[in-house]
Parts: sequence; structure tokens; C-alpha cells
Amino acid sequence: VEAEIARFDRLNLIGEMATGVVHEIRNPMTVIRGYVQRMMLKADQSQTAQYAVIIEEIDHMNETMTAFLSLAKNRRVEIGLHNINGIIENIMPLIEADANKAGVHVDFRPAEQPLMVYADDKEIRQLVLNLARNAIEATPSRGAMSVRTALNEKAVCLTVTDTGEGIAPWNLEKIFDPFFTTKDAGTGLGLAICKSIIDRHHGRIDVQSQRGRGTVFTVELPVVA
Ligand code: ADP
Ligand code: MG
Repeated sequence: VEAEIARFDRLNLIGEMATGVVHEIRNPMTVIRGYVQRMMLKADQSQTAQYAVIIEEIDHMNETMTAFLSLAKNRRVEIGLHNINGIIENIMPLIEADANKAGVHVDFRPAEQPLMVYADDKEIRQLVLNLARNAIEATPSRGAMSVRTALNEKAVCLTVTDTGEGIAPWNLEKIFDPFFTTKDAGTGLGLAICKSIIDRHHGRIDVQSQRGRGTVFTVELPVVA
């Protein structure tokens, strides 16, 4: 329990700092990006390639900033009554676009009945997107991933499965920590955000993984009868 509280405090602090710092950094970065883009127009080929790297790096920083901001705890959460199948359907095109680019096959299998939850639909979308992106990033071309929903005793059950590289056992307990990443261009914030969203929704998340075979993330959210 104490570790859980310490973790909660840490996320809280990160959230408060994030909001201020992100705005201070984002604005100048937008200006820099604009200038580099203009310089690119007049540059020769080898310079263009270098400017492209600068833009790419700025975009990566921006992504980190956006993710960082989602950790802010004091954000307004807008809870409503939603069918989780509808929320997921809503972002499937985004997931499919990412998967297509990576040559990964996507399978969405919603439960037949509507699964009602009290939730912030934007946050649930973010949650599913983060899990799906990880699944796609872990899966080699021609692999597959799936998003499923089901109802068990008291909970709506959402699973994101992939046939990717899997997670090393010694990393399993770190993957939800802010900034833990095994990727060159990772932010390490995706799963930390998932965890904080799930906490706010009184749900739980579980992961099962086998190296070289794939990974299953299971999210449970309280169902509204
Ligand atoms: P990032 O994706 O930026 O690295 P995340 O918080 O989303 O940050 O994920 C943290 C780490 O957890 C990843 O770097 C990766 O090592 C591991 N991970 C998460 N999802 C998967 C998955 N589906 N398959 C394999 N590894 C995963
Ligand atoms: Mg991620």
C-alpha cells in the first residue's frame, strides 16, 4: 500500500509540473520548427536531410510533451455513461492505419451485447490507443494483433493481444513506470498513462507475456448493470 501511495504522489507531482513546463517549452519549439521548415525551402539536398532530422526530433519532443501532459492528475475528467464497444469502434480506423503501415493484421472483436461503463470516453480512447500502439510496435510485419471486449462476472473486460516479441520477465514489473522504455525513440509514458487512466476508472490491468510469442494486456472496468 505504501508503495502504491508513493507512486500516486509521484504521478501527482509529475502532473503538476508537467502542465507548467509543457506550455513553456511547446511554444518556443513551435517557433523553432517553423523557422527550420522555412530554412528547408532554401536549403540544398544534404542540408535538407539534416533539417529533416531536426524536425523529426522536435516532433518526438512534442509527442513526449503531449504524453507527459496526459499524466497531469488534475485534468478535468468527464465521466459519462458509454458503451465501450462504441468507444473502441471510434478509434479503430486510427489503429488500423498504424497497423497497415507496419504490415500488422488487426482483428477487432467486440462482445455482441453493449458493455456499459461510467467513463471518460477520451481517456478510454487514449488507453486503447496506447495499448494498441505498443502491440503494433512489438509485432513484426505479417504478425497479428487483436482488440476484444467481453463481459465477465462484474467487469467489462478489454484485451489487447499481439504476436510480437514479448516482454522479458525482468522488465514486467517496470513497464508501468513513467519513462521506462526499451525503445530507441520511446517516451516510456504510454503504459504509465494507461495505469493512471485505469486507476481513475477504478479498474485494473494485467499483463501476460511470453518472449518471442506475444503479449496479452487485460483491462477490467466496472460494468454498469
Ligand atoms: P514506450 O512505448 O514509449 O516504450 P510504454 O510505456 O508504452 O512506452 O511501454 C513501456 C515498455 O513496455 C516498452 O518500451 C516495451 O519494452 C514494453 N511493452 C509494452 N507493450 C508491449 C508489447 N505489447 N509487447 C512487448 N513489449 C511491450
Ligand atoms: Mg508505448
